[in-house]
Amino acid sequence: MARDVDIDPRGRALDCDVIVIGGGVNGVGVARDASLRGLKVALFERNDIAFGASGNSSGMIHGGPRYLSYDPAVTQSSCLDSGHIQRIAPHLLFRIPFLMPIFGSSSLKSKVTLTAIDAFFDLYDAYQPLKAGKNHVRLNADEITQLEPGLVGGAAGGITFDEWGIDGARLCIGNAVDARERGAEIRVHCTVTEILRREDGSVYGVRFRDRQSGETGERTARVVINATGAWAPITTSLGGLTADAARIRPGKGIHVFLDRRLTNYAIIAHAIDGRQVFLLPWQNMSVLGTTDDDYYGDLDHVVASTDEVNYLFQAVEHVFPAVRSARAIGTWGGVRPTLYEWGPNEDQLSREHQVVDHRQHGADGLYSMIGGKLASYRLFAEEMTDVIAKRLGNAEKPRSHVSPLPGGDEQVDPMQLVVQGGMEAVTATRLEYRHGGRSLRVLERMLQKPREAAVICSCEPVTEAEIRYVIEQEFARDVADVARRTRLGLGACGGMRCALRCGRIVADATGRSPQVGQQLALEFLAQGARTRSAAVGSTQARQEALALSALQAEIGSGSRDS
Ligand SMILES: Cc1cc2nc3c(=O)[nH]c(=O)nc-3n(C[C@H](O)[C@H](O)[C@H](O)COP(=O)(O)OP(=O)(O)OC[C@H]3O[C@@H](n4cnc5c(N)ncnc54)[C@H](O)[C@@H]3O)c2cc1C
Repeated sequence: MARDVDIDPRGRALDCDVIVIGGGVNGVGVARDASLRGLKVALFERNDIAFGASGNSSGMIHGGPRYLSYDPAVTQSSCLDSGHIQRIAPHLLFRIPFLMPIFGSSSLKSKVTLTAIDAFFDLYDAYQPLKAGKNHVRLNADEITQLEPGLVGGAAGGITFDEWGIDGARLCIGNAVDARERGAEIRVHCTVTEILRREDGSVYGVRFRDRQSGETGERTARVVINATGAWAPITTSLGGLTADAARIRPGKGIHVFLDRRLTNYAIIAHAIDGRQVFLLPWQNMSVLGTTDDDYYGDLDHVVASTDEVNYLFQAVEHVFPAVRSARAIGTWGGVRPTLYEWGPNEDQLSREHQVVDHRQHGADGLYSMIGGKLASYRLFAEEMTDVIAKRLGNAEKPRSHVSPLPGGDEQVDPMQLVVQGGMEAVTATRLEYRHGGRSLRVLERMLQKPREAAVICSCEPVTEAEIRYVIEQEFARDVADVARRTRLGLGACGGMRCALRCGRIVADATGRSPQVGQQLALEFLAQGARTRSAAVGSTQARQEALALSALQAEIGSGSRDS
């Protein structure tokens, strides 16, 4: 006979073992780990996979030398997990050598500072083997100028150290796809609107609403996991708990990206308030990041302000004036779901993670995942899955650290894509970076339907075959989703040259009308204009707004005519 915990209040068997709310890196990480252990999982994401902090982070899977001084456990777990992530997703990695110049008014002071920093990095070096990193190197003034001639201010020397970067959005997509292939149900653009509870307060499922189709329904499970990052307190309130039950201290962080690569090293600079910021080479662009400010705004619309952009430029320009020679073409921003603490400055807050069991709040069966880092997401997900596996009597061993993510199991030489698919070398290299071994599946599409070899976004570049692939295989439902997976429309033109074509493809591939496709393109461009305006400046922002209005009017009159 079924126990009470295995049935809903109407006596029906529960649909699955685990419901995950939130498709950020922690949510998809748990969905994957639980699916790998044979548990039946359903995941609901209100926007798109990686819409929140996970798709808007700096993408460093590092130990964070900064944390070593006040949170060494975070450095340890992040380095350890970085090593695991590198093994399961080797195609998504890129190496980031950092330069930390040391300036000083007196040669004695700068010598002492340099010696202290050198000693500090000796400690950090101890963690490098965990993440396949190289030891730091101390540099004198000549060496640092040779490595980066654009530095000004008379650096007395410095150090260089080794980190790894990853495309956070693609990391999330990989986890979600893997979970689906192991049986999980993944629903995007689908909001959990209520957490369902029995009379005794225990949790048995969720009510949801599909934001695109309007469909509503219920899904029931033995355990519900709140993995909604900065939304976590709002989510617990959907089950009638107070926001304090999953308390966080949300911190907004933004990045500005420039139209070209300015350096081969990431350069650490100090902002006017002494905070560390950086200039990072990222593929064919440069990125300035990042801010960290307490945030009280709308989590679904996080947009960089002109002040934040100026703050980053001012900091980097102070040591690297050539930063002004490039064009700022956009921004991205997210909200860190940092553990709650009253008092410390934002960047002194712990980056630790925590599993909250809401049995203590009378909601048995509900758990929240709070805090954490992209760099240690897999470990956090494993810890969460250990808890639910124990509860559900599942004794399978964790495998998420050894089982490759989709595309991570096979190496593809981009030249193969060039020769067989007739792609430009840059198209092939970027395709292989994003999809690893699965780039061969995109190639296969092109060989079967040569018209899909057409390059739709020339800035990135992205082909029609890749767009159709991410729609069919990676849950993309609109133009912004395609951009998150492929970087379409994120180049200098902001999508003005490709959004409409992409919208038509999305509409066609999802069985919607061309008019809907145009609408999806306009929504993407309007959202892009909001995130670009602080970077491109008021004159260009006004011109873009005019161009967008003209396009809207043209499309509006076209659809009236048709
Ligand atoms: C600017 C910035 C830079 C960072 N840089 C780094 C870095 O370099 N390295 C590093 O390790 N970490 C970094 N981090 C931290 C890291 O990104 C986060 O800790 C991590 O991504 C949090 O993941 P998450 O899954 O908890 O939350 P999120 O990624 O925010 O995901 C939460 C998801 O829940 C969804 N959701 C909310 N409500 C509902 C609902 N009712 N129903 C369904 N879905 C819902 C949201 O749409 C969202 O997609 C950075 C963070 C920021 C903001």
